[in-house]
Amino acid sequence: MSAACLSGQVIVIGSANLDLTVTASRLPREGETVLGGELLLSNGGKGANQAVAALRAGAEVRFLAKVGRDPFGDRIYRDLVVAGLPADGLLRDESAPTGVALIVVDREGRNQIAVAPGSNQLLLPAVIEQHESFLTYGTVLLVQLEIPIITVERALRFAKAHGMMTILNPAPACPLSDDLLRHVDLLTPNETEVEALTGITVSDLPSAAAGAKALLLRGPQAVVITLGAQGALLCIASSVRHLPAIPIEAVDTTAAGDAFNGALAAALAGKPQADAFPIGRLRVLEDAVRFANAAGALAATKRGAQESLPTKIEIERLLAGSPLL
Ligand code: ADP
Repeated sequence: MSAACLSGQVIVIGSANLDLTVTASRLPREGETVLGGELLLSNGGKGANQAVAALRAGAEVRFLAKVGRDPFGDRIYRDLVVAGLPADGLLRDESAPTGVALIVVDREGRNQIAVAPGSNQLLLPAVIEQHESFLTYGTVLLVQLEIPIITVERALRFAKAHGMMTILNPAPACPLSDDLLRHVDLLTPNETEVEALTGITVSDLPSAAAGAKALLLRGPQAVVITLGAQGALLCIASSVRHLPAIPIEAVDTTAAGDAFNGALAAALAGKPQADAFPIGRLRVLEDAVRFANAAGALAATKRGAQESLPTKIEIERLLAGSPLL
């Protein structure tokens, strides 16, 4: 049975936003206005995207997030519950608006994004203890950096204290202390985030490996660098593995990283604990990264964020070499 066949429990603590996406022939330069095509409204936020990605990829998921008590928040709350996430984790804030992301996508699928975090900034560390029984259910914790860093830190400590595997997708990039990184089992930066965290510019596989090794020295047991159309680089103590991307025609890479992270967490949560711990087991990680590569590739073939996230069946079909659809 493959790493991804068993369902496991994933806890995601993070952001939920409404994404406003405009497609344009090209991305605007500084100070420039570009006339775009149609406007797409969709649910997004790295936390919500990765929670839905893990759910579609076959895991049981609990998601802790905060949206505003406004029409955007109503829409996100309703859609996430319909998607299958428990309502208990979807908190409402009376004082701040729901987070919004403004996204421009060009014809080649490249994007530019600016986020107004709103209520995501009010997801404070106390929510972890307030929802202890909701959160202790998980075997894997998956967090990102679109909520206050003190909440991320508390979540990582809480998860380690409860014997969970911890995954940090350090996006968007911000400085991270070694103390925080010591509570991370698996770190999943993209090329830009590696440069922000280490100062090493990732331009090819050797420079990616150098970045991963620099990050390993700071605490995580494993580092997986996502490399867009080049796939991903997996690095643990003495081993480096490049797992190439699955060739597809990219339409919109928004949420490809989120699809990757959610699927990675789902695959690892699906392993029996004896296989998954310690996280240093290379074969387990390689299988999970292959599964995540397929999820990321599929997300890049469709427009939007959450609506582009693939199901477990679609991922397994792509891995098995079957045609898309
Ligand atoms: P982010 O959006 O966070 O920068 P990446 O662009 O690195 O993340 O994409 C995440 C993952 O999605 C990649 O590691 C790869 O597996 C998959 N992916 C992204 N773009 C493509 C592409 N053009 N072709 C195939 N797979 C892709």
